[in-house]
Amino acid sequence: MKELRRAVADERVLDAVAAVPRDRFVPEYMLEEAWDNAPLPIGCDQTISQPLVVARMCELLELEGHERVLDVGTGSGYHAALLARLAAEVYSIERHAALSGRAALALGAAGAGNVTLAVGDGSLGLPAHAPYDAINVAAAARRRIPPALIEQLAPGGRLVAPVEERGEQRLALLRKRGDELLVTRLDRVRFVPLRS
Ligand code: SAH
Repeated sequence: MKELRRAVADERVLDAVAAVPRDRFVPEYMLEEAWDNAPLPIGCDQTISQPLVVARMCELLELEGHERVLDVGTGSGYHAALLARLAAEVYSIERHAALSGRAALALGAAGAGNVTLAVGDGSLGLPAHAPYDAINVAAAARRRIPPALIEQLAPGGRLVAPVEERGEQRLALLRKRGDELLVTRLDRVRFVPLRS
């Protein structure tokens, strides 16, 4: 928690991290490592992201509690569970049905009732519930953020995504202001690739 406080200032995010039982989202044999600030395997060759990076990404979305959020790459469901505490509705999409099924159980056990899961290609977004006030992408896009995601962002919305360029991944924060898009490149990170 001390390490987290150094990187994240938003008290709502820190409260959410304290409240979500991360151990419910990692495989049983990894329970002892559940709170380490490290990515951990969750099956299907995928990982649950580091708590510090997840918290930082949540903070960048500047959530106040009333928002509708799209989460791309459900994985274990941990990131979605945090978003569920910070926003009103969360839609989370994952391409591996097996992971989505496990995430559903973990989210249920963690009492996150405002998360709706979908299985499919999240690089196309989830048009059925668009527009979103905030979009979180938990897998690295190559060079550019998928245009469908930008389209599904509401005016004034924020999107955070790892973007890979020249072998290096950085978080990109994108804001939609009218017809204008403001993009900031931030922290270096390491995520599994976004596969369409
Ligand atoms: N947010 C997760 C960690 C995600 S790891 C957590 O908190 O545990 C990234 C996830 O993105 C993986 O589960 C991977 O299967 C998924 N993924 C990669 N490309 C995708 C795509 N195009 N659509 C949906 N999910 C995708």
